[in-house]
Amino acid sequence: DDNSTTDTGNGQSFKGHGMLAPFTPGWQIADVNPLVIEKSEGTYVYDINGKKYLDSLAGLWSTSLGGSEPRLVAAATEQLKTLPFYHSFWNRTTKPSLELAKEILEIFTARKMGKVFFTNSGSEANDSQVKLVWYYNNALGRPKKKKIISRLKGYHGSTLVAASLTGIPALHQKFDLPVPFVLHTDCPHYWRYHLPGETEEEFSSRLANNLEKLILKEGPETIAAFIAEPVIGSGGVILPPATYFDKIQAVLKKYDVLFIADEVICGFGRLGTMFGCDKYNIKPDLVSVAKALSSAYIPIGGVLVSPEVSDVIHSQSNKLGNFAHGFTYSGHPVACAVAIETLKIYKERNILELVNNLSPRFQDGLKAYHNSPIIGEIRGTGLISGTEFTDNKSPDNPFPPEWGVAAYFGEMCEKYGMLVRVSGDTITMSPPFCVTPEEIDEIISIYGKALKDTE
Ligand code: PLP
Repeated sequence: DDNSTTDTGNGQSFKGHGMLAPFTPGWQIADVNPLVIEKSEGTYVYDINGKKYLDSLAGLWSTSLGGSEPRLVAAATEQLKTLPFYHSFWNRTTKPSLELAKEILEIFTARKMGKVFFTNSGSEANDSQVKLVWYYNNALGRPKKKKIISRLKGYHGSTLVAASLTGIPALHQKFDLPVPFVLHTDCPHYWRYHLPGETEEEFSSRLANNLEKLILKEGPETIAAFIAEPVIGSGGVILPPATYFDKIQAVLKKYDVLFIADEVICGFGRLGTMFGCDKYNIKPDLVSVAKALSSAYIPIGGVLVSPEVSDVIHSQSNKLGNFAHGFTYSGHPVACAVAIETLKIYKERNILELVNNLSPRFQDGLKAYHNSPIIGEIRGTGLISGTEFTDNKSPDNPFPPEWGVAAYFGEMCEKYGMLVRVSGDTITMSPPFCVTPEEIDEIISIYGKALKDTE
């Protein structure tokens, strides 16, 4: 209702506004004033009435340095003055894009990568992944090897192919998706999907087995790649069970299937390691990045390509024709300048130590509420967390959707001055890395109050 969002105070109403707003139902646009955010400061954002909210999701898992980092403003301003735009087509380019590519390749150490392709977003990165993989297999003379496997509850974006890769029904229904070359395999959520008595390791073995069965059923000669987030974010912050990625990678290797790591949320420190691949010993062939690459101050994403894949693409491009893929803004100099400065700040402030020092306070503080009768599972690592509401602590007893339990919890948080994300029965948080210990205590205290109201 109106009370949960901005009633604009000064008599101004934005009900029925002119924006076809992402992931927002029409009735809300017609009937409810949107929450209009006007200003940010560190971990907080302010709405147009001056109400202050702790931004516990860092925008959309993205504003990692918080909302008022003057160095990023300066980096953008300087670049705008010097060269606001030049493209990177036809072997013309700009210094910021070259410098950023070099820097990203240096900080990604889970394995040696060869090249970076720049995009404007995570969705474009994942769409580009599929085109790269197809071009690669065409170059290798394997025209049938084109199918991509992703996981239920994985989120990979909302463009045509990225939405297909996403394993969430709402992104498929009414859009005639997924496209036919995308297949989905199990969600690795141990708490929800393990069989009675099954250990995490056994669960992982079963999922790896199912993946192998799917590859064999389709024919390994048709399966090009597997895509996964190291920790599933938008699907509800789902951590991989023990031994999961080891077993999955063994299957992929056996059938010559490329591993695409979607690091759009996990990348750049969120889990307490520079990349999710570091945390789970993933040796990917391709990596998608975005969000925290620029602390979300400006749109930029990218694809890291292994030397094996980029060598094939470059060496075959004479035969196959130009690698005809790219965006006007691939490697936009202003976006690259902001990203270079962001990565510099991560290094100088030792972002990993920072996240690892804050993590226990955040995770243990939230987990202290695990006895609540309406909470099924509280999970997380580093500075990312998900709380799934169920009745009776059982994954098999979801609350009736019309009760809107998680949504109510989210509204209560908003009332007390904190923004969380609500997706289905789960609420998620990923505070900016500039969050202070006191602000973590504030997160936990508001969470506690909202929980009490919801119970
Ligand atoms: N991949 C992951 C893991 C994401 O979380 C997201 C966005 O939340 C995307 C891809 C899509 O990124 P974008 O919204 O920038 O297109």
